[in-house]
Amino acid sequence: MSQTTPNSASDMTEDRAKSRDVAVLSALLPFFRPHRPLVIVAVVALLLTATVSLVLPVAARRVIDAFGSGDLALLDTYFLIAIGIGILFALSTGLRYYVVTRLGERVVADIRKAVFDRVIGMSPAYFERIMTGEVLSRITTDTTLLLAVVGSSASWFLRNILLLSGGLVMMLWTSPQMTGMVLLIVPVILLPILALGRRLRRLSRENQDWIAAASGQASENLLAVQTVQAFTQETTSRARFSDVTEHAFSSAKERIFVRALITILVICVVFSGILGVLWIGATNVRDGALSAGELVQFVIYAAMVASSAAALSELWTEIQRAAGATERLVELMQAEDSLQDPTSPIEARMGPIEFQSVGFSFPSRPDTPALNNVSFQVDPGQTVALVGPSGAGKSTVIQLMQRFFDPDQGRITLGGIDLRDMARSDFRQHIALVPQDPVIFAASAYENIAFGRPDAPREAVLAAAHAAAAHDFIEALPDGYDTYVGERGVMLSGGQKQRIAIARAILRDAPVLLLDEATSALDSESEAAVQNAFQTLSQGRTTLVVAHRLATVKTADVILVMDNGRIVDRGTHAQLVKKGGLYARLARLQFASDEEDRRT
Ligand code: ADP
Repeated sequence: MSQTTPNSASDMTEDRAKSRDVAVLSALLPFFRPHRPLVIVAVVALLLTATVSLVLPVAARRVIDAFGSGDLALLDTYFLIAIGIGILFALSTGLRYYVVTRLGERVVADIRKAVFDRVIGMSPAYFERIMTGEVLSRITTDTTLLLAVVGSSASWFLRNILLLSGGLVMMLWTSPQMTGMVLLIVPVILLPILALGRRLRRLSRENQDWIAAASGQASENLLAVQTVQAFTQETTSRARFSDVTEHAFSSAKERIFVRALITILVICVVFSGILGVLWIGATNVRDGALSAGELVQFVIYAAMVASSAAALSELWTEIQRAAGATERLVELMQAEDSLQDPTSPIEARMGPIEFQSVGFSFPSRPDTPALNNVSFQVDPGQTVALVGPSGAGKSTVIQLMQRFFDPDQGRITLGGIDLRDMARSDFRQHIALVPQDPVIFAASAYENIAFGRPDAPREAVLAAAHAAAAHDFIEALPDGYDTYVGERGVMLSGGQKQRIAIARAILRDAPVLLLDEATSALDSESEAAVQNAFQTLSQGRTTLVVAHRLATVKTADVILVMDNGRIVDRGTHAQLVKKGGLYARLARLQFASDEEDRRT
């Protein structure tokens, strides 16, 4: 091939998929511990099948030698015993399959849950370092890989080790001389096969790369099909796709050729090897050194050992891949969160919110403080509005208030207790959040409102929807409250999503309210509805709101003007407008459109 491989991404995944260190698999032991009886049954079944397999050739020898000596009195008994052994073999094989596969599914299900349990509780700093897609792929792909090994390959591996070692011992016992010869021939057979095998692996990977490149090409072009057609680039597109597809074909051609060569070689070598051994064996039988039955017995053991060795080499690759998968899963399961709940948390108590000289930088940008010496207090029942240009640090304040991150300097208290001294799940109970871009789950409108309180009575859910001015539009949906609102709420408008989020917060009925107003403009009808809903919601609650609307700032008890992570001014709307400065400028620009809306 003149061109180099299209990308090395799959090389990397292949390397990544295999772990050099198979010992990492021991991390899986804790998952097997609760199922010890199953493990024991599996091992016993395994030992039983292996023993039966190892005994059968001896039985074959006896039958054959009985023919040879004409001593056929026990023939019927032998066959009866053989039937018994066969049934035992069938039973223990079935038992092993059932137990091992079931065990595999059970363990992998437990691992999936353990990984998800761990990850869902991680603080946001963790997700800055790992991509969500990566977590998903570990939970699905890596566990599937593991399932293949735990649910079958591992027991095959053990079985083949038993057969290989047992078979070798039996070969030696049958005829040490012939065993020696076979062991001499093995390297001669293996060397060329191994060499070609390596080439075959390289070629298959190359082939995989080209196939991946072809599907990458196709998907990129198909996703952008309108752009491709608008710029009349179909011909170029076709040519490019044809090019990679042809490359995939020619690497496949080479791979198939090598594979065919290996097949020829293997059959020739194995055939002559077997014939060689048989010939020596036959000579021995002729010279009376070996009985015919012993020869048959020996050949069966040799075949057993050979096939076990072949299976082991393949299974080993699989086990290495499983070790890689395990490594990646263990990484998730043992991930250390940078935030920890205190060992003996203080019970959350309501009261004022207080930021005391808070300084904070995001872990990904340690040199750029997002908050700098921020101090303020929100008394119970008060509404404090945060305003300022984009990037000023307003949302960061909201995030810190929920302890998604810890401040680097200063402290944040709720009811006089440092957030770090309470369990996060405890004080978050008392907080309701309406985010800027409300998250709508792929469920019904009803379930979306009840999200924060799934056991709320239906009347409470409806009342919340009424209060959030959401009832009317929900009733108008095709199935009312039971309407499936689509993934991420694709069937709802921006204002409708916000009102659902507000209803969710109202239903949560928490004393502390964190509001992040949407920056995007809504039509004036939604605007008024959302505004009213906000007012209802913040009544009587300790409210911290990132404000983008004139109506919100006008009703706030205190406005904090933020710029560059600092609070640069504070006061009521009237005071701040009179003062001039950043707020007056913001009010003129940011809230100007609100004024216009109001006038029209
Ligand atoms: P605002 O809400 O006032 O628009 P933010 O609080 O979102 O501003 O952001 C404050 C500063 O912190 C900005 O400079 C922003 O780029 C930065 N920032 C926000 N989130 C992150 C994050 N997860 N990692 C790193 N920097 C961030």
